[in-house]
Formats: sequence, C-alpha cells, structure tokens
Amino acid sequence: MIRPKYYYVPPVPLRTIFKSVIWNSTNDHILLSIDDGPSVSETTKILNTLRDSSVKALFFVTTDAAIKNRHLVNEILAQGHSIGNHSFSHKRLRFVSGSILKREIVDSKSAIEDATGTPIMYFRPPYGAFDPFVLKAIKKSGQKCVMWSLLSGDFLGSGSETEKVIKNYLNPDSIVVYHDNFKSRNTIIESLISTIQTANEKDLKLEIPQYV
Ligand SMILES: [Zn+2]
Repeated sequence: MIRPKYYYVPPVPLRTIFKSVIWNSTNDHILLSIDDGPSVSETTKILNTLRDSSVKALFFVTTDAAIKNRHLVNEILAQGHSIGNHSFSHKRLRFVSGSILKREIVDSKSAIEDATGTPIMYFRPPYGAFDPFVLKAIKKSGQKCVMWSLLSGDFLGSGSETEKVIKNYLNPDSIVVYHDNFKSRNTIIESLISTIQTANEKDLKLEIPQYV
C-alpha cells in the first residue's frame, strides 16, 4: 500500500511558516540522514553499505546511545560521515519545561562534543516535533534545526514501499530520513541500497553539504 504524498513529504505551508528550519538540502546534494542510532545491531551494517557505495551520510545520534556506544560513533566519524544531535533521550519536545529543553538540546550537544571532540552544528527534534520554544533553544545553543523533505518510510517495514516512495519523490535537493532503530531493522539496508540506485539512475549526487 502506498500512502498519500504528504505522509512522506512535509506540506509547503509548514515549510513556509518555519523558515528558519532547514527542510531541503542545497541543490545537487541529496542528504541521507540516519536517525536514532548508534545501535549495536544495525550501525556497522549501515556503515558497510554506505562504504560500498562511497556515500557519506549525516547520523542524528541520541546522546544516550552515543555515550553507550562511543566506539560506533567514532567509527561513523572515522569513515568520513557527520554526526548531529537528536537529543539525549528521544523525548517529544513540544510543551515541555525549559529545564527539559536545556537538557535535551543544549546539554546533549555538549555531551556529544565532549565524547567525540567534534563540534555539533545540527539538531533534529525527535519525531520532528517542535514549537517556537524548541526552535529558540536550538538557535540559542548555536545549532541549526534540520528537518527533512522526504521520509523514506523505512520504519513501516516494507522495502518495496520505500523504493516506490524514493522513486516518486526523490529530488536533487532532498533531505531523506532513515532510522537506525528496531522498527527499521529489516528494511534500512534495502532502503539505502534502493535510494542509492535511484539517485545513480537519475544522475543525482549524494553528499553532505554545509548548511551555514
Ligand atoms: Zn528519532
């Protein structure tokens, strides 16, 4: 079953209202972003798949998992990928207190930076849930809020559906989301491979741009 387009592609009014949020990549640089890891079960397989195709990605790690699996974060960086902040514990951040926002957005940034020695520039809110307070806290912490222009749907557990979604909606400036978590574990590799194939067929580049 294929769901309606706006299940996968954020509607234009949302993108227009929140202009400070990064929704699209720069032209000619499709960004593959991989959320929720690192995980002992999936991250190495994901890294091997990306390495086989010489593709670099941006991993939005949760700080709890990053600290627990520091060797995997180091491996992500050693292979030339980038990391972003996906909060400490993957809480929904809408309607939460200032102290929770500080911990999940600001303290999580410092903790990943301390653990890896790598500056963190990008934050992705868990579940894509944000409000003006979340955006203010992200901005104040010196990070940029990176959402997406295309959900791969890998978490639905159907590789063939993801393949159709990518074939239908992949653009030269897409930011595509995948998940390094239990829901996607049977589809993430297949989804990444089919995306890379589709990008190659359409002669589109997969690279990590700098969003300044
Ligand atoms: Zn997430």
